[in-house]
Amino acid sequence: MTEYLFEKMVDLSHGLENGMPVYPGDTRTSLEPMATLSKDGVNLTKVILSSHAGTHIDAPSHFIRDGITIDQIPVRRFAGEATVIDVSGTAIGSAVTIQDVGMAKTGSQPEIREDDIALLFTGSSELWGNPIAERKYTYLSEALAEYLVARRVRAVGIDSFSVDSFDCTTFPVHKELLGHGLYIIESIANPLRQFLGKRIFLMCAPLKLTSIDGAPCRCLAIPMTD
Ligand SMILES: [Zn+2]
Repeated sequence: MTEYLFEKMVDLSHGLENGMPVYPGDTRTSLEPMATLSKDGVNLTKVILSSHAGTHIDAPSHFIRDGITIDQIPVRRFAGEATVIDVSGTAIGSAVTIQDVGMAKTGSQPEIREDDIALLFTGSSELWGNPIAERKYTYLSEALAEYLVARRVRAVGIDSFSVDSFDCTTFPVHKELLGHGLYIIESIANPLRQFLGKRIFLMCAPLKLTSIDGAPCRCLAIPMTD
């Protein structure tokens, strides 16, 4: 019987901090003391964040007119089994194709089950903090997005800034996934590497920001026995 090893939980989220990388043009993260223990007897911090800062979830309304917002996604969908697919053989800055998924570097042909959360490890997360990586990261081909929708996964996660290329103007991958009611996890942190080719139990509950397009989440991997 499969067991979930909660005591071996691994954090797959980036820290939200001043100076952290953000998608070019997006709001810079700012954490600023409003009050301090030494001066005011209490620590309080003013936090300025993009809804897509750090490890975060895109809700359908990010690109889809009348799509549901982050607070409207049923919470049970943020906890479930995930398959971790090693596509780090794809050159950084190019598109992961259906063939790349079929020839995942670690593990045999990845098993993608209906209702899985499909997690793509591209290796882009190894470059977190390198300004070049904010524009040059690995993304999904449109055909791969269609393939994952057809495989009926519930969500797609990636360790890159975006599922679409930086140069794109029409965001076809976002539209394909979000338009079919999937949610997207972006900027997963690089400890994902330790689960290549494996199945894990994932918890990725986003902040309950009301009526908007996305929110940062704490993305947690719970290892599973076979
Ligand atoms: Zn996003």
